[in-house]
Amino acid sequence: MSPKPVETSREDPAVTCPRHDRPMRRFMVAGIEVDRCGICGGIWLDAGELESLVASDRDARDAARMLDRADGAIEPDDRDPVCPRDGAPLIAKRDPRKPNVECDACETCGGVFLDAGELSRMTENGFADWFRRLFAR
Ligand SMILES: [Zn+2]
Ligand SMILES: [Zn+2]
Repeated sequence: MSPKPVETSREDPAVTCPRHDRPMRRFMVAGIEVDRCGICGGIWLDAGELESLVASDRDARDAARMLDRADGAIEPDDRDPVCPRDGAPLIAKRDPRKPNVECDACETCGGVFLDAGELSRMTENGFADWFRRLFAR
């Protein structure tokens, strides 16, 4: 199974990669629209999308398998990532118990950026519980 590409619309144009300022491609995975950068392999999820994804461990694993291909992706440069929706700086969030797992989150809109490989690492590390805590309100 491969992810289904989704056309971006005028109302909701393509988001640009927080690391590269290039438009990301949108895919439909497990009923959720996911934006992926073809250059670095990073993944952008709008507020609520990551929560929906991790609500099901199987959906999260499927998404990681289909979208999160670190092979061939180039290393992201060191520039501080900014939110493609509102330009706010993204804040690195780390699980204190699993320091190799992190994501960059926007505290303005609640969107989350994952570098290539991070979604896979998270699914392998039982990340869903962490994210449920992280986004618990
Ligand atoms: Zn990128
Ligand atoms: Zn934002």
